[in-house]
Amino acid sequence: MTTALDLLFPPLCVNCDRVGSFLCPHCLAKMTPAPSRTLPEFDEVRVCANYAAPVSTAIHALKYQGQTRIAETLGLLLCQALENTQWPVEMVSAVPLHPNRLRERGYNQAALLAHYLAQTHHWPFVPDAVQRVRETASQVHLNARERQDNVAEAFSADPGRVSGKSVLLVDDVLTTGATLSACAAALRAAGAVRVYGVTVAGAMVQDQQASVPGTLVEVV
Ligand SMILES: [Zn+2]
Repeated sequence: MTTALDLLFPPLCVNCDRVGSFLCPHCLAKMTPAPSRTLPEFDEVRVCANYAAPVSTAIHALKYQGQTRIAETLGLLLCQALENTQWPVEMVSAVPLHPNRLRERGYNQAALLAHYLAQTHHWPFVPDAVQRVRETASQVHLNARERQDNVAEAFSADPGRVSGKSVLLVDDVLTTGATLSACAAALRAAGAVRVYGVTVAGAMVQDQQASVPGTLVEVV
């Protein structure tokens, strides 16, 4: 959809600078599809692409360069990833951002993606269905087990909103899945009957069970 904003500021491909879209067809063709992942607490999880250019470039621009319009382009990828699913989604929510990050950035990129997906499918979007109940350290330099400990019981969900519901949780990048699973556990604890997940990208994890730091691909 072309908007007035597009005419004033034509989108440029984040990967190759071609004018016309945030991810041009040429670059989109280079996207490598990611396999579905199995995560604790989820009925099913879909991932659009491997965390590599051009998708990683687009996520970086969305998160760190204030290019929030890219959420639509990446949201479309999420829609495509769900095309062949029959998930009985009743509400869509997003992994909440660390409060410090939210203050710095001014928006939660996962919520922008979730909002687009919900709007397209006419599913109710409930941005604060899952909330952070305690501060957590940055996950960037933590390995799989440390990430799990770091986010354990860091989230809570409101039974009044999620009890008896099938919930679709959205995030931008899936690495070990520790954060997503902790959010899904909070949803289950609050009575959600089904929990599905979708992320734009999945980063390769070399050793899920490793206790040695530095075994994860860094996603920043
Ligand atoms: Zn391009």
